[in-house]
Amino acid sequence: MGTTKAESITSFLMSVPPYNGLTFGELLWGKIMRCYESSHPDMATLRDIGSASLALGSVGTSGTGLKFAEALARLTGRDSVRLMNWGATTDGASHSRLMRKHQAWCPLCLAEDPIPYFRELWDLELATSCSRHRRRLVHACGHCGAAQRRYRCDGSMALCQRCDHPLTVATTVPASPHETMVADQLGIVIAEVTAGRLKTTGDLMKTALFGWAEQQGATSVKAKARLIGMPQSLVCYWRYTDRQPSLQRLWELSLRNGLPLLDVCRGSRVITAHSLPNHGIPRAWQFRLLTPEQKEGLRSGLATIASREHPPCVQHAAIELGVSAGTLKALAPRVCEDMSKRSRSQRKLIVAVRFQRFQNKVKRYVDDIIGEGKVPTFQDISSCFKSPGVLRAPQCREYVRAEIERAKLQLFGDTTAGK
Ligand SMILES: [Zn+2]
Ligand SMILES: [Zn+2]
Repeated sequence: MGTTKAESITSFLMSVPPYNGLTFGELLWGKIMRCYESSHPDMATLRDIGSASLALGSVGTSGTGLKFAEALARLTGRDSVRLMNWGATTDGASHSRLMRKHQAWCPLCLAEDPIPYFRELWDLELATSCSRHRRRLVHACGHCGAAQRRYRCDGSMALCQRCDHPLTVATTVPASPHETMVADQLGIVIAEVTAGRLKTTGDLMKTALFGWAEQQGATSVKAKARLIGMPQSLVCYWRYTDRQPSLQRLWELSLRNGLPLLDVCRGSRVITAHSLPNHGIPRAWQFRLLTPEQKEGLRSGLATIASREHPPCVQHAAIELGVSAGTLKALAPRVCEDMSKRSRSQRKLIVAVRFQRFQNKVKRYVDDIIGEGKVPTFQDISSCFKSPGVLRAPQCREYVRAEIERAKLQLFGDTTAGK
């Protein structure tokens, strides 16, 4: 606690019971502890909240997780345990998406530990590297490739949950300077928070962020949004409603602009940006889930789609490949630009082809009805299309009207001619 290497609450939970001759599973689910529940109300809290919160992975962030941490702090007699929950120190900001779903770790750190434990830093979605070893964090077992849950019932932390292979044996790749900068900044905040020296609110961080933008000479909402690199609508949303911004978003924006995170958390009036250029930072976490092979696969998939005679727009290609359009644009900007240019020019053609199909369908239907000796109505024609409102387009309405006139002319044409 109080350092960048502070332990996470799930890790702490797993490491404490063995000292008392218990396993973590026995503590939360076992029968032995039932008898203590009547004398220790906190024990019941631990059991009630623990299993649900742990399964959701929200024990470090949620309000119920905070109750859990408080109960644990009372039971262990260490008040600092409370600080392991982010809710205790960062108030007035949503904690959604702050933590990653599975465990990430630095194998080198684990190998160095006399008693291995998981750091609080590794739980944060924004942290992608180890600030000590300057290497990327690992997300899967080096032996079987299994992702690891946050906890393991028998409490043996440094072993894979599927194959019992040591987690310390995994290959890591060097992290970029941007990634290590992010890890450094987050580490400083964690050290302060877990030492109980920092208590912040969403409003403080918001003020600091906008204050910095004003220092840079941005006066209007639009200019601030552009400078910080966030949508203008979000600036208005934050400013004019009392909704809580998420801690994740606030941190992400600060880091992207190279601001010292601790100053932002403290709500400092004067902030000097980091010297490190910041444009590479979003990429680091944008791509963290894709392996080089996956990226290569996406690129070649995109190339295949782009080489079609009638390529779809980027959004549709993204749906086909199962990723977001933003990811595709970041992976292959030139191909995407080219594709959207071509699809735009083809949109007119597509509309024309669709209209031709519509015309054919209506014409066939009207011919059939005429064959039966009846005059088609607007309603009849509309009912042969699955989607409602097809005939609302002026062009289509015009065509249907002309077809009805044609039918009338064919059926009653002779009578009118005879009169
Ligand atoms: Zn490390
Ligand atoms: Zn394994």
